Amino acid sequence: MAIQNRIADFHADMTAWRHHIHENPEVAFEETQTSAFVAGKLSEFGIEVHRGLAGTGVVGVLQGEGRDTGKTIGLRADMDALPMQEENTFAHASKVAGKMHACGHDGHTTMLLGAARYLAETRNFSGTVNFIFQPAEEGAGGGKRMVEEGLFDRFPCDMVFGMHNWPELPPGKMGVRSGPVMAGADRFEITIQGRGGHAAQPHLGVDPVVVAAQLVVAAQTLVSRGLSPVECGVVSITRIHAGTAFNIIPNEVKLAGTVRALTPEIRQQLEDGLRNLVRTLPPVFGATGELVYHLGYPPTINHADPTVIAAAVAAKVAGAENVLGDMGPSMGAEDFAYMLNARPGSYVWLGQGGSALGCSLHNPRYDFNDDVLPMGASYWATLVETVLPRAA
Ligand SMILES: [Zn+2]
Ligand SMILES: [Zn+2]
Repeated sequence: MAIQNRIADFHADMTAWRHHIHENPEVAFEETQTSAFVAGKLSEFGIEVHRGLAGTGVVGVLQGEGRDTGKTIGLRADMDALPMQEENTFAHASKVAGKMHACGHDGHTTMLLGAARYLAETRNFSGTVNFIFQPAEEGAGGGKRMVEEGLFDRFPCDMVFGMHNWPELPPGKMGVRSGPVMAGADRFEITIQGRGGHAAQPHLGVDPVVVAAQLVVAAQTLVSRGLSPVECGVVSITRIHAGTAFNIIPNEVKLAGTVRALTPEIRQQLEDGLRNLVRTLPPVFGATGELVYHLGYPPTINHADPTVIAAAVAAKVAGAENVLGDMGPSMGAEDFAYMLNARPGSYVWLGQGGSALGCSLHNPRYDFNDDVLPMGASYWATLVETVLPRAA
């Protein structure tokens, strides 16, 4: 088997759906038209539709034709676009100023719809498939909200699977790996409080700029000296605001940045380390420090057994030689992490190509590669027929 033939038959339909979604991008939690489109298609295919989870979320529920084994699976796609201006000029470019599908979620939604159509026509499996269309993947945590609002209580899933297109991987290839695949991403703000005064009389005050400079350098040791050289993490201070003039020492400095880590342990270590530095370093200079730390998406960590299944299915669809098991993890983040923290599962990358031409994720000239729609949909369909084989 490779691409499911029946899915290849409606490649043109999928391309049209993808272009429709691309033309009408909606950002986090505003996916009303997109979710109505998804719900309409699922109903058209004869799939039971549930709306309203996390606001604009949609779940389709489909039973196989075989004897019900009680087994269940969840397949997840994200639906949201990004708040950015598209620079493409082709016919299906965004019709909405300042909004664009630059991460390929239009393609993800379409591939899951394609699989839903095929599976509803064939029903050659036993058990229940939950098609999970989530809002707000891009930073706003729609996946988290779906889990919190009872996604897996209302729609039980023994395992849950996700997929993202990957421009650095050529079309026809898939990336599957066990363990961490995407990083946890937190952000923080720091305030260094000193005592301002005349720049010519530094001894009469406490200069928070000098303290902030020490802190920026010291924060780099959390990774370079705190982590084993073969582990990875990121502490980036990306914003420093202070001062109004060349001859005034300001009262305070405000800094902000992000922490990235591939495991919960390293994430915690970096947060603790930053807290400790902000608490203890400024007083050495007579200043005080305050840290506000915001937990973002946790690391996305693939479970071992579901990943073995995902790799076998990818090999069936793409050919074993086209499945990369040794792709390094990405330090980007993904809110599918919340689903993987709640249920066993695996998240794979689908080759998309085009990155050499600037078609990288979140680029204003990005466009999902329609050529890979049948492969992605076939992966979903084959996964269901593999995990939920038809029982007599
Ligand atoms: Zn994105
Ligand atoms: Zn994305």
